[in-house]
Parts: sequence; C-alpha cells; structure tokens
Amino acid sequence: MSRTILLIEDNEQNRYLATFMLEQSGYRVVSAADGVGGIEAAGRIGPDLILLDIQLPKMDGYAVARALRENPSLQATPIVAVTSYAMVGDREKSLAAGCNGYIEKPINPDTFVDEISRFLERAPGAEERP
Ligand code: MN
Repeated sequence: MSRTILLIEDNEQNRYLATFMLEQSGYRVVSAADGVGGIEAAGRIGPDLILLDIQLPKMDGYAVARALRENPSLQATPIVAVTSYAMVGDREKSLAAGCNGYIEKPINPDTFVDEISRFLERAPGAEERP
C-alpha cells in the first residue's frame, strides 16, 4: 500500500509541483490549502507524513504544527516544515513547534522526493512496515 502524504500549502503552483513529484514516485498525496483544512484532513486520514508550509494565511505553520501535535494520534507522525531559504530563524522555530525537520523553498526537484523518503524511513515504526 502506498504511503500517504498530507501537503499543507497555500500556493497553488507549489502544491501542483510537489504533488506531481510525489505521485510520480508512488506516493498518495492529499492536499490542503490552509492550516484549518490541513488539521482537519490530518485527523481524518492519518497520513504517514505531513509536509507543512510555514508561510500560510491566517494560521501560520508553527501554529498548525502545534495543533497537529495536540492530537494524540498524530504525535508520532513526521512533520516536515517547508521554509524559505532566506528565513533562517524559521528552521529553529519550526522544530520548536513540533516539526521533525525542514526542507528549503524553493524545493529542489532533484532532491525533494529523496528528502521526503528519508523522513519516512526515520519515522517511528517505519522499520516494522513491509
Ligand atoms: Mn505559503
């Protein structure tokens, strides 16, 4: 069964590109355009990994990460922040908010899927999966 990635990203082009690359590699992708929709989707589908844009309207990625971690069923789910290259402080703040790591925006098509795969391999319970 393919892994499901929840993509929380407000920019339509970024959403399209990330979804395309992940689906090409066999992942199932569910996307949300804002934090509220992302939190709702995460609780409903229980994704294998959450890819979280930090710059989101209304509720930013830090607040979304904290809300996701409040759900007991999502406490072990890897959350990967997507932060702007220029915003160095974002990385530390995203880790403090409960993210497991980050990747830089603009995403690099040559390394993006590999980076995501690595976060999945490191996830608790990953070694027990077939
Ligand atoms: Mn954004």
